[in-house]
Formats: sequence, structure tokens, C-alpha cells
Amino acid sequence: MYWIVFCCIIFILTSKLNSSGSERKLVRWKLNKNPLSRNLKFSLFVAFILWVLLGGYIYYQTNIVNSYWSKTKQQNFRVAYEKRLKKFEYHNQPEISDVNLQVELYPQKNSYTINGTYLLTNNSDTNISDIHIQKLLKEQVKISNITFDIATKPDSTYLDFGYLIYSLEKPLKPKESIAMEFTQKYSVSGLNISDVETKIIKNGTFFNNKDLPTLGYNRKYEISNAKERQQLALAPRKIIAKKSNQNELQNAVNGDDGYKINFEIVIGTDKNQTAIAPGTLVKKWEKDNRSYFHYKMEEPMVNFYSIVSATYEVSKSIWKNKNQENTALEIYYQKGHEYNINRMMESMQMSLDYYTTNFSPYPYQQIRIMEIPRYTQFAQSLPTSIPFSEDLGFMLDIDDTKDVDMAFYITAHELAHQWWGLQVAAANVQGRHMILETLAQYSAIMVLKQKYSKEKIQQFLKKELEIYWEDKGNYESKEKPLIEVENEDHIYYRKGVLVMHALQAYIGEDKVNLALRNFIKDWNLISPSFFQEKYPTTEDLMQYLKEVTPDMYQNTLTDLLEKVTIYDCKILDVICRERNDKNYELRITVGAKKYHILENGTKQVAPLKDWIDIEIYGENADGSSKIIALKEYKLDKNKSSFTILLSEKPSKVSIDPYYKLIEKNTTDNQKQIWFP
Ligand SMILES: [Zn+2]
Repeated sequence: MYWIVFCCIIFILTSKLNSSGSERKLVRWKLNKNPLSRNLKFSLFVAFILWVLLGGYIYYQTNIVNSYWSKTKQQNFRVAYEKRLKKFEYHNQPEISDVNLQVELYPQKNSYTINGTYLLTNNSDTNISDIHIQKLLKEQVKISNITFDIATKPDSTYLDFGYLIYSLEKPLKPKESIAMEFTQKYSVSGLNISDVETKIIKNGTFFNNKDLPTLGYNRKYEISNAKERQQLALAPRKIIAKKSNQNELQNAVNGDDGYKINFEIVIGTDKNQTAIAPGTLVKKWEKDNRSYFHYKMEEPMVNFYSIVSATYEVSKSIWKNKNQENTALEIYYQKGHEYNINRMMESMQMSLDYYTTNFSPYPYQQIRIMEIPRYTQFAQSLPTSIPFSEDLGFMLDIDDTKDVDMAFYITAHELAHQWWGLQVAAANVQGRHMILETLAQYSAIMVLKQKYSKEKIQQFLKKELEIYWEDKGNYESKEKPLIEVENEDHIYYRKGVLVMHALQAYIGEDKVNLALRNFIKDWNLISPSFFQEKYPTTEDLMQYLKEVTPDMYQNTLTDLLEKVTIYDCKILDVICRERNDKNYELRITVGAKKYHILENGTKQVAPLKDWIDIEIYGENADGSSKIIALKEYKLDKNKSSFTILLSEKPSKVSIDPYYKLIEKNTTDNQKQIWFP
């Protein structure tokens, strides 16, 4: 509105200018001596007054009703947070073991009230003498009524940071628990220009437990940008800890507030909306023109849950495990967004089949996908719940003749996190995203392979390789091997899926799955026997993979996951002749080079002893292409030739057709065969 009025003023002024001719506008502005007409003058006066009043209103709302946070103010706050509270980063705290929430959502007013109870358990072997509570640092969030079921003394020294300390009059001994109650309210007062929030909106509320009170110091409030830290005289900060960091080995990626919780929630919302959280829907009712939903998790789950509410249509199905036990599959979507529901539902069915056969049972009784507004550009997997941005799956326009079915693929990837992330958590150290994301990528492509042709898989892998090289340019840091990946998503997503797909092609899908099955068996935090002493790292994962890899592929395993290896392959020459016996003799000459990228970034020539695929295509009667041979050769020279005898007429040769090798230029990997 403010800017509309401003534009009106400019329009009135320029309309006068325009009437004097549009050329040399700025010069005319100074020279024009004709007075503005009376009507124009009056309009200009009214618009100006309106503009000033609106400006004043906005100032009042942003600076007095809400306190406006300039960049400097935010920076100073973060610096002070780190300087004063960092000492508590690894201060011994209990863990959340039970969560019980009463949530009242008011989507039309962009507000909520949550009355919550946490059970806090001392899982350490030393006494705990105080509880540190961190409120979400958002102006719209207010916390009140924090009480415990034992005597405490509050210390408000760090109240400015939303950080409250409660000294326990009697220390909490190992294995003992205390209950903590709290009320958290969220409301938007005045105009909220500096901090636009889209979590509680009229139709499409979505937030997760990271918005609720957390325990202890929170690194997310530190300044992370290296240059900014240097300018502010802050010590350099390791984005992700090394695998030797004992403190972070005991923290999972999802945080250190709790590793396994019991969960129950009642959510009230607008009458026409459906509210969704993890667990079985125990009861649903209406009261005071509002709808209520009571969910309870029958099994323990990781401390990671979301609260979603919107006006939904629902598509339901049932998946049966091998014992004929049912899992309810539900997709909640906005009316009119049903395009890809069948693809997503089929992907849920096929993913559950594949993951339960090859990894471990699915521990819960339902899985729900919930469409969320496009303010959020991701899908996220929480126990039994997958909030899924409308842009990612629901609204994709997929043409099966030319596209890869990404609604199917992303669904399979998110489902895979019900294993990688929610059954096996990764320690919060380097390589963590290989365990979470690369394994989800591997799982998803295996499901994609069950449904789609080799050509589709090729198309998918080719695109992943291209995105890898494109996105690599966005990172200044030296390329790390996958087992040490930090936040470089081109490595853990793109290269991850390429190398894991390659690994199963070399050693066999069964062997990779056996390794993953053993890995999940030993590290499944949902299992009653698991007690968190440390979470797994890629070093642990590698043990399982090495165990199943035959000797002849051990170096390949190292090249794929533990080193940065790149190749340069090409088809140099192809000669084909038809023999008297009607067979075809094909002589292929290929070039191949291999390099390792060292820690300091230098590219070093590496000895070639690699298994490389050569695929030969022929033609169907209708002229379409078909595969007539796929052979694996061990190359140990930069230039090698082979002769292949074929019973069908070949038309094209391709080296490394399934993108097992990380290679920049793949345009010279194919050659048409010409017959003289
Ligand atoms: Zn993921």
C-alpha cells in the first residue's frame, strides 16, 4: 500500500512531465515552469499526506509494536550469544524421553498456543544440577509457565537470549527423570515486515519441534559465514566436526535433545481443516466449532516431529507386509492437485516392499504424505509423516515419454529416510549426510529401477552427473571424498547416487543390501537394545561395505567412497565387418585416464586398473535402439582395443553407459558404427 501510494505520487508528477514531452525528462523536470493544474495539485497533496501517514504507521508497527532488527543488531546479538553462552555448549543436560502436547492452532489469526510436557531423563553417568532451556529466538514466540515436578530456582541472567537456567534443588541422578511443563504462544502482532513467517497461515500450517523449547546452547544462532566471523573477530568455526570429536559422536544430526521419545499430541484447528502429527489417530471430534485430532505413537521414535494443518482431500491405500499386517498409506492433498497421487502412492507401496525386504521392517502402522505450500521448497521425513512441498511432487508435470518420474523418485527418497535418519541416525560429524542422504538416494534409485526401464535409469544418472558438475562450481572448498562430506549437496546427493549405483553394479545389489541390513541391525535406535553411546559414522558404515566387497573390487570401493576419483574415457575408434558366417566382428579402441584429487586439491594421475563397461546397441525393425551386448573390461592401459563377436548388426558403441565413472566430458563416450 505504502509503495502503491508512492507510485501514485510519482505517476502524478510524471504525468505532468509526460504531458510536456517524454524526452529529456530529467532536464524538463528542472526547466518546466508550467504550474500543475489545481486538480493535480490537490491529488498530489492527498497522496502525499496518505504516504506520510502510511510511513508513520509502518514505522510504528515495525519499530514499536515489533522491534525491527537491522542486520547490525542481529549480528551483535549473535556475537553476544556465542561469547556469553558458548561455555554451555557441552554442558551436561538430560534428554527428552516423553513428549505430550496440547496444541490449539488458529490458522485464521496466524497464531497458536501449545501446552506441553516433556519428561527429561538423565542418560549420562553423572548428576545433573541444572536445566537449560532455549526459547526459539523469534519475536512472535512467547514462553510462559515453565514448571518442574521438583523444586527449582530460576536464573534469568541470560534472559535476553531467551536462555533460562533452572537450578535443581536436588540433583538429577543417572537414569532419573523429571517432568517439565511449559506454555508456548505464537502470534503476529502488528505488521511483521522484518520477519515474514509462513509457518502458521490460513491454509497450510507446517512447523516442526525445532520451534519448541530446546535444551542447552544452540549452535544455529552463531554466525556461520567465515568472512563475517573474521570481520567480527570471532574464532574460525568448523562447520561440521571431525569424526574424532567425542562430543559430537554422541549427538545425532537431529540434535542432542533426545534420541528416542514416546509421543502423544492433541491438536485443535479450524473446523474444516485436518491436523496431522505422527502416530495413530486415536480420536477425532468437534468442539466449539473446531476440529480436534488425538495422535499417539505406539512405538518409540526419534525426537523429530511436525505439526501440519490444512483443508485436505485424502487418498488412502493399504500396504501389507510379509505377515499380512497392514500399514495405512495416506496422501493428504489440496483439491485440484491430484495429478501425481497415483505415482506417489505406487512409490510408497514399492518402497515399503523393497526397504522391508532388503533393510529392516517398517516400525510403524502408517505413513502419511501431506502437501504443504510452496513457501517450503522441500520434502522432509519425520516418523510416519512426510510433509511434501506442492512444487516437488504434487504439481510436477511429468510426461513419461520424455521425463523421469520425479514424483515417484522423491517419494521413494523420502520413504527411505524412514530407515536412513529415523531408524539409523548419523553422528553429527563429517560424512553424516552420506549415511542419511546418499543411502536414501541409493534406496530410491533401487526402487526406481524396479519400475522403470534401463533407459530411464540412464537418463536419471546422466542428469545427476550433469548437476554434480554444475553445482560443484558453487563451492570454493576442495572436493572431499564422500565419507568426509560436509554440506556439499552435489557430493552427497548427486555423486552419492552415482557411486552407490556403480557399487551395486560392480559387486551386486544383494551384497550392498546385505551390508546395509547388517548396518541397520547393529545401529537401529528404535530397537529396545540400542542405547546411545555414540551414533554411527561413515567409518562404521565402511566396515559393513568392506565386509561384503570381494577382493577384486576393494580398490574400486576405496575409489568410489574414500577417495576423490575422476576419469576421462572415450571411444577412439570402431571398426566392424560382417563375416561370412553372418556374424559381426567389432573392433573397439578406447582411451581411459584416471586421476585422484588430493586433499590439497592437486590432480594426480592414478594407475588404471578399473572395470569399465562397453555397451553395444543395435536397431529394432522399427528403427528404435536396443541393447545387444554389455561387457565389463578391466582396463590397465590408457589405450586398449578389444574384439567382440556379435550375432546381430551393431549400430552404436558406448563406454561407461551407466555413469559408473565420475567424468566431466561424456560427449565422446559414444560412437556410431558406419559400415562401408
Ligand atoms: Zn533426503
